[in-house]
Amino acid sequence: MKTLNQLVRPNILNLAPYSCARDEFKGREARVFLDANESPYNSPYNRYPDPLQLALKEKLSHIKGVPVENMCLGNGSDETIDLAYRCFCRPGIDNVVAIEPTYGMYKVCADINNVEYRKVLLDDNYQLSADAILAACNGNTKLIWICSPNNPTGNLMNAEEVEKVLRQFEGIVVVDEAYSDFTKARSWRSRISEFPNIIVLNTMSKAWGCAAIRLGMAFASKDIIDIYNKVKYPYNVNDLTQNLAMKRLSDSFEVEKWIRTIIGERDRMVMAFKQLPICEKVYPTDANFFLAKVSDATKIYNYLIDRAIVVRNRTNVMLCDNCLRITIGSKTENNELLSALRQYFD
Ligand SMILES: *Cc1c(COP(=O)(O)O)cnc(C)c1O
Repeated sequence: MKTLNQLVRPNILNLAPYSCARDEFKGREARVFLDANESPYNSPYNRYPDPLQLALKEKLSHIKGVPVENMCLGNGSDETIDLAYRCFCRPGIDNVVAIEPTYGMYKVCADINNVEYRKVLLDDNYQLSADAILAACNGNTKLIWICSPNNPTGNLMNAEEVEKVLRQFEGIVVVDEAYSDFTKARSWRSRISEFPNIIVLNTMSKAWGCAAIRLGMAFASKDIIDIYNKVKYPYNVNDLTQNLAMKRLSDSFEVEKWIRTIIGERDRMVMAFKQLPICEKVYPTDANFFLAKVSDATKIYNYLIDRAIVVRNRTNVMLCDNCLRITIGSKTENNELLSALRQYFD
């Protein structure tokens, strides 16, 4: 790996971060708050939230098994994706490499930041090849994007290939594990001390049932986290979100129950889907959705829309010709989809 000083954008390396009022007195209990031009009225919403979200991070630290200093929280993991570009990629000069197909935000954020985005196609089983990814890199490649389980394909990326990328790439490897709660595979966040160049992303938006509150996590070496903290907005995670997340995280047993139910439903849905006349193939999944190749994705998509059922049409995505991506919902929702599709005839 190159040194972080070689990888971070020079303007970010030299950045004097914004110092907010609450930073200056960290740790001590104040009695009178006259430092931040807040209103004395409308408590508790009059106060700025904790910029480093310490109470929430301590709770997350127990659940995720990662020390607080190796964690940065974002306004959804989408913020932590954008931060990777803003910290490491010089606009118009640097590039990133990503598997294809994958989550669309990596490319959108590359475009917003004017960073070249290089795609490396997965194979017929939607697996990645470390050699192909490494071959697409050059001296200006700062980031490699790996999503596992991958969206929209649903499958885990081969851990040996991912490890090979981590060991041989000179820059930063981001492993997006938005769906890792649905798999038994070992999370890459348990290996951040082994790989100084890894950033692992998690989110509250999927298994934790909290898409509305916008809370995402980046796990990495303390040096990378320090850079992230310097660049993020000081109050990027609001107080309502911090409080609601604390509550949700206090009942992880219920979340585990949800996960078991969703996985049970997923297995049932995949079996039922394979019996449908329209179904040509269901791809293996480790997530709360599955990708299915059907006879005519667009026709079926529109037929479902007419019945007020919305799935994701991925037919225009590379390697996903005539594929629909179907999220596992409640038993009732899943049955509605199945019964609509049983009534479908071309
Ligand atoms: C849904 C999803 C996210 C979640 O983004 P949030 O901003 O945390 O809601 C991140 N990565 C992938 C691959 C996803 O599918």
